[in-house]
Amino acid sequence: MNHSDWSKKDLEYIWHPCSQMKDYETLPPIVVDHGKGVNLYDVDGKRYLDVVSSWWCNLLGHSHPKINRAIKEQLDSLEHVIFANFSHRPAITLCEELMKKIPRGLCKFNFSDNGSASIESAMKMSFQYHYQTGNRQKVRFMSLSDAYHGETLGALSAGGLDLYSELYKPLLLDIVRIPAPDCYRCPKGNKRGCCQAECIDAAQEAFARHGDECAALLVEPLLQGSAGMRMYPPAYLAKLRSLCDAYNVHLIADEIATGFGRTGSMFACDQAGVSPDIMCVSKGLTGGYMPMSITITTQKIYDAFYADYREGKAFMHSHTYSGNPLGCSTALAVLKVLDEEHIIPRAQEKAPLFRQMIVEALGDHPHVGEIRSLGLVNAIELVENRETKKSFPSEQRLGYRIYREALKQGLLLRPLGDVLYFNPPLVISPEEMEEAVSICASCIRKVLG
Ligand SMILES: *Cc1c(COP(=O)(O)O)cnc(C)c1O
Repeated sequence: MNHSDWSKKDLEYIWHPCSQMKDYETLPPIVVDHGKGVNLYDVDGKRYLDVVSSWWCNLLGHSHPKINRAIKEQLDSLEHVIFANFSHRPAITLCEELMKKIPRGLCKFNFSDNGSASIESAMKMSFQYHYQTGNRQKVRFMSLSDAYHGETLGALSAGGLDLYSELYKPLLLDIVRIPAPDCYRCPKGNKRGCCQAECIDAAQEAFARHGDECAALLVEPLLQGSAGMRMYPPAYLAKLRSLCDAYNVHLIADEIATGFGRTGSMFACDQAGVSPDIMCVSKGLTGGYMPMSITITTQKIYDAFYADYREGKAFMHSHTYSGNPLGCSTALAVLKVLDEEHIIPRAQEKAPLFRQMIVEALGDHPHVGEIRSLGLVNAIELVENRETKKSFPSEQRLGYRIYREALKQGLLLRPLGDVLYFNPPLVISPEEMEEAVSICASCIRKVLG
């Protein structure tokens, strides 16, 4: 069977995520045979440069020999075990290793199997903490506009993107929404990077009005990924931390997309010198190999659940695959590679070069509104009018048209609306960067003229 046979058979059975399946009539699924480094190869051998890290999770390239080996070794001793009252060395060692890297104060690890689940766990944990410490009025949550925290109902509630949540509003929690910073179209008229995060005033107002009834604020630190790779300064995050302290509101840092070096530091919170009360990690945690997530919290929160059984204070939350040993061994291997191969400092050395390539190729294009960068994440926002920053009408599906053109040319881009972005495995080489940027620029020119 060739690629087109496989592709047809796929559509007989599979309902793909986040897709209008009718689009697949003209853009059939790409059936991947194998991956190596930054490259994917379909069943006919066509190559694609995976500069989106397969939905932002692949950290060290596909089919990394050291990670492959770790999984194979683990498989021969233990694939899975119930995690209530049972444990295993990979989970314990992983926590021990993570302790060396996570923001100070975090020290208790609650395992789940995907990002959304770790957010649900964080929300329930925060609510229950306040309930058990005499603050039963704290029954709501705060989050930023255009936030993304996953797609199960609690996480979807916390998110602020209508594209995903509008239809489900009748099912969702009533969230206190804080207008997020928008540095490209700054409401205060500041230029990116030249401010004291004055837009914190919106958050101050929200806390003054609703802080007392809120258990936690959820936030994607520094980078609102799904919003279109929107980036905001560390000072804003630090100010959110102070507000949370002032109102006894937990800061839940959703580091699912930003963790493990994506933004240039181990965690995005590090750049603001901020320790959250609860931190959610997934995606890069296993280098994009295994579905695993962890909700990490403080001794203080943990202690509020610690009591005699009859007091009913336990956190009665579980997932079948909590603490899966294959996932834990994978994560351990990822941490080892990060250290041994100095992955994050090396990625930081490459970062200015990558940005420079993009600016040289596209900086003068009349429809490139902004090129923004954080770590190896680089976003290119396309606009109809550069002066007014007016977007293209969404019916034009410009990003989607560029996506299709890029696939033809062997580049996996997957834009967010009209924001094209690169969020590649941290091991991408300068040659691969050059190739990706040049294909991207050629696709933009082809579609936009
Ligand atoms: C991907 C993502 C999630 C959800 O993780 P899933 O594993 O897809 O459920 C939550 N928050 C952020 C910031 C993410 O990028």
